[in-house]
Amino acid sequence: MEIEEKAFAELTKLLDTSDKFYNRELITKAYEFARSQHAGQFRQSGEPYVCHPIEVAKIIASLGFDSDSIVASLLHDVVEDTDVTLSSLKASFGDEVASLVDGVTKLGKIAYSSKEEQQMEYMRKMFFAMANDIRVIVIKLADRLHNMRTLDACDKDKQLRISLETLEIFAPLSHRLGMRQMKVELEDTSLKYLDPVGYDMIKTYLENTTDDKNRFINSICEQIKKRLDEYSLNFKLEHRIKHIFSIYKKVFTQNKSFEELYDIYAFRIICDSVNDCYYILGLVHDLFNPIPGRFKDYISTPKPNMYQSLHTTVIGKDGIPFEIQIRTWDMHRTAEFGIAAHWKYKDNVSKSNVEFDSKLTWVRNILETQEDISGTEDLLKSLKVDLFSDEVFVFTPKGDVINLPADSIVIDFAYAIHSAVGNRMIGAKVNGKIVNLDYTLSNGDIVEIITTSSPNHGPSRNWLKMVHTNEARSKIRQWFKKERRDENISEGVSAIEYELKSLGVSLSDPVTDEQLLNISESMHFSDIDDMYAAVGYGGASAQKIAVKVRDMLARIRTADEPKITPLRKKRMSTGGVSVEGIDNCLIKFAKCCNPLPGDFIVGFITKGYGVSIHNINCPNARRGLETEPDRWLKASWDSGSEKKYFTATILVEARKAVGLMAKITSALADMKVSVTNFNAHDNGDDTVSASITMDVKNVDHLNFIIAKLKKNKLVNNIERTST
Ligand code: MN
Repeated sequence: MEIEEKAFAELTKLLDTSDKFYNRELITKAYEFARSQHAGQFRQSGEPYVCHPIEVAKIIASLGFDSDSIVASLLHDVVEDTDVTLSSLKASFGDEVASLVDGVTKLGKIAYSSKEEQQMEYMRKMFFAMANDIRVIVIKLADRLHNMRTLDACDKDKQLRISLETLEIFAPLSHRLGMRQMKVELEDTSLKYLDPVGYDMIKTYLENTTDDKNRFINSICEQIKKRLDEYSLNFKLEHRIKHIFSIYKKVFTQNKSFEELYDIYAFRIICDSVNDCYYILGLVHDLFNPIPGRFKDYISTPKPNMYQSLHTTVIGKDGIPFEIQIRTWDMHRTAEFGIAAHWKYKDNVSKSNVEFDSKLTWVRNILETQEDISGTEDLLKSLKVDLFSDEVFVFTPKGDVINLPADSIVIDFAYAIHSAVGNRMIGAKVNGKIVNLDYTLSNGDIVEIITTSSPNHGPSRNWLKMVHTNEARSKIRQWFKKERRDENISEGVSAIEYELKSLGVSLSDPVTDEQLLNISESMHFSDIDDMYAAVGYGGASAQKIAVKVRDMLARIRTADEPKITPLRKKRMSTGGVSVEGIDNCLIKFAKCCNPLPGDFIVGFITKGYGVSIHNINCPNARRGLETEPDRWLKASWDSGSEKKYFTATILVEARKAVGLMAKITSALADMKVSVTNFNAHDNGDDTVSASITMDVKNVDHLNFIIAKLKKNKLVNNIERTST
């Protein structure tokens, strides 16, 4: 018998031992079709190629999957590796099989490269997004498992690449689907290639201590059995030694010695009911000493992949710790086979739809649609995964995965990369071909954005209607606003410079920003750039501003005069302060004392920039009043001040205590006080001082805040200070 015939006979035998119905005719037809299509193709090991799909079909059959899955496994490489088309598969084997094969083929085209964890997570999500059907992922996993089993035949480079991929993508996928056996084998075989030394070390350690281990295991098993039998409980006791990769992770990443590993040994008690689980837990804790903090109840709180069990770690008389898991048969099947458990134990499933429904919580979460699930056929159909149907995963040419909302177009992609890429975009290639800018992205597309280096290029207004993401839309809008503004500002600058020149003002005369700010404020602009931008778009006269600049420069030149004429008529009083003898003057609040409404204030006439308002108690004001009395004027607060908030700083001294600063800041937050600066330092004598700058309305408001803060018993003193 040929080697492939032998393999197929093994598959047939597997089906014979199951009590499920299989479409034998279709399976045989698929085998013969695959055999003829792959004829003349060989694996690296020298075997006929068709042995591979047969082995994959065997894995799928042993997991309890249906005929279509087995047929699709047999055919999973024909579209990729032979001339067979999807439509001819559809005609010969049906829509379901064709769509499974198509899914597996597409997954095979994803290009992997090892990336940081976030990228890996996107890759895994992309698998779900592209698969549409969980069976596609399981077939892909079986495909990978068989490739790992036969990886010895490949060269070293391929071994490393495939193993890393398996560890980063496929093992986590199998874990997510709850397929423990699959995960264990994928991880251990990957490790064998990635770190042969570490792998051998653990394997040798496990082998060398086999006798000791068996003695230990037997003794523990006997003790457990004896005790449970005393209570005539129905149970099955299993034991195992943790798989190599999980020991490896503990030894090498947590730097533990073999002896320190708590749970190299794991015992498992499978029983009939949840009640028995907790009962047995009690007996076990009576028999051995539980290690505190190591008990986990996954029965009352199952893991996200539906896993349920009680876990506890205990120590026997000889001081060796070991883990015990206690679970029911149902929980056991879910743990071992994950999703696949529901096909394998069909009888159990039909027993109670309610129970089944609750077991499928996880799958249902994936599905997001809460359809009524009854019978295997419907179940298979509802296992189409649409968790990520509202997302699309595409690649940059470098292989990074970009995650976008479904229906995104290439422009969205460009802006997701960077606004500079979007703004300079002139075209795009998808999978190597030039596409229109409104091309809608599909999972797995490799997208390349063509940009221009011309700095004058920008997005088109039409794009606002085309893009799908808010990110792209707001970045395009921003461009229009900002680009316009920049253009306007630079135009404004040159227009004013031109006017100054024609007025005979030398541009080398120093004009400070503060002076320009005065001019712009006098014209009601919020800053200098606004003034320039206004000139740029024609909202302000460049000539008028140039005249103001000229006058100002002239004033500065003759500034030896102590008193300055109040600056032009139109000046607004900005702070809600009246200064005796001057109307509509420009007001500044002195930074040295931060006067608040309610304080007694005086005004100081500055050279060229209005009146500066000080608290009457300010040291600078006191000194100034003596030295230059003519420049000081009486000032008072207007009743309806247009400025709502003023800066105030307080110094809090308090006894040191944990959480003190948090209490102070949260007290301020409760009073809706906006804090602009917070500086605390340790005085070294069991007290701390905090300087807090905040926005307040007036003196009364500040005093209210201080009184509130003083209610904290740790606070010794609070003073108002200057910054
Ligand atoms: Mn394959």
